[in-house]
Amino acid sequence: MTGTPAGRLALPHVPGLRAYTPGLQPTGRGWTKLNTNECPYPPSPRVAEAILREVGGDGAALRLYPDPASSALRAAVARLHGVDESRVCIGNGSDDILNLLMRCFCGPKAGAAFTLPSYSLYPVLVGIQDGASTPVALDRTLRLPVEAVARSGAGVFLLTSPNAPTGVGFPNSEIAAILGSFGGLVVVDEAYAPFARENATGLLGAHPNLVVVRTLSKAYALAGMRVGYALADPEVIGLLDRVRDSYNVSRLSQAAALAALGDPDYYAGIIGRIKATRDSYVDSCIKRRGWFTFKSEANFICTEPRDSGGRAGPGVAKSAYDFLFTRKVLVRHFPSDALTASFLRISVGTDDEMLLLDDTLDAWLKAPQNA
Ligand SMILES: *Cc1c(COP(=O)(O)O)cnc(C)c1O
Repeated sequence: MTGTPAGRLALPHVPGLRAYTPGLQPTGRGWTKLNTNECPYPPSPRVAEAILREVGGDGAALRLYPDPASSALRAAVARLHGVDESRVCIGNGSDDILNLLMRCFCGPKAGAAFTLPSYSLYPVLVGIQDGASTPVALDRTLRLPVEAVARSGAGVFLLTSPNAPTGVGFPNSEIAAILGSFGGLVVVDEAYAPFARENATGLLGAHPNLVVVRTLSKAYALAGMRVGYALADPEVIGLLDRVRDSYNVSRLSQAAALAALGDPDYYAGIIGRIKATRDSYVDSCIKRRGWFTFKSEANFICTEPRDSGGRAGPGVAKSAYDFLFTRKVLVRHFPSDALTASFLRISVGTDDEMLLLDDTLDAWLKAPQNA
C-alpha cells in the first residue's frame, strides 16, 4: 500500500517557506571571523566556573529538567533593569523570544512590518506563521518612516535598534512617535543596545504595547549558550509563557547567564574596549580611506568600500568580500538589499584582528583588478 507522500500532508504554506541563512560558521582553522557579531573576548571567568559547578563531578544534575520558568534568571534580569519579575520572559536566545512573539501576535489575519534593512530572520518567522510581511524601506538618513509604519496596517512592528546591518541607533523620540501613531505591538530588538548611547527600556512603563528584546549572545559573549529575554507588560509576558516550550532554557544556559549578569564590572570593561576599537575603526574608514561609513552604535561597522579608482557599488563590495574571503578574513555582504548592497558589515574584533583586516584591505586596493 502506498500512502500520501508526507510532504504533501504539510500545511499548504510550509513547502514555500525559505529558511533563514545564518552567517558562515567555518570549522577549519585560521579564519579571522568578523561576520556574525560575536564577541571577540571570552565571557566572564565566572561563567565557566558556574557551568562546571552545575555539571558537578559526575553530571548527575543533568538528569533533572531545568527550572521551567528560569526563575533565578528572571529575577536577575528584573534587578538589572529595575522592573518587576512579572515583566520578564527568558528565551533560548532572543530568536526564541522573537518566535514566541510571532506565535502570539502574527498570523494570517495579522501581518508584521519591519524596516528594510533589518534582521533578516523577521520575514522568516512571519512566514512560518503564514502572516504577511510589510517591509518599510529606510534611506541613508536612517530616519524612521513613522507615517509608513502607521499606515502599514500590520499587527506588529519589529524594529532592530541599533539597526542591523548599518549599526545606527534610532532615537527614543522616533520610537515614541511610532508608539503614538501605530496601533499594533511594537517590538524593539535591542541585541546591540549595550554598545549604544540610548535604549528603549525607559519607554516600557508608559507603553503597554512595547516589547524590548535583549540577548546575551553579543555583549555578554554567550552566543553558544543561547539566552535572550523580553521585557514587556505583564500581560504580554503571560502570553509568551503560554506558548513557549516549558523547558526552553537548559540548566547550563541558566547557570551561565546568571553568572554573566553577576559580573557587570567585567562586561563594562570588554564593552568599553569594543566601543573604542569600533570608534577608531570607523574614524579610519572615513578619514584614512575616505569610505562612507555609518556611525555605528553596535559591535560592528558598515562601510562602503571604494576601489583604487574611487568607485563604489555592489560589485566593488563583492570584490572586497571575495578578496578577504580567499585570505580567510570573513565579513558579511548583503547583496539583496538596495541600501546596503554596496557595503560590507564588519564585526568589531580585537585590535589585532582589525589590523589584519586593514592590511588585507590595503592588499585588495593594490591588487591588479583594482588598478
Ligand atoms: C544576533 C541577533 C539576534 C539573535 O540573538 P540570539 O539571542 O543569539 O538568538 C537577534 N536580533 C538581532 C538584531 C541580532 O543581531
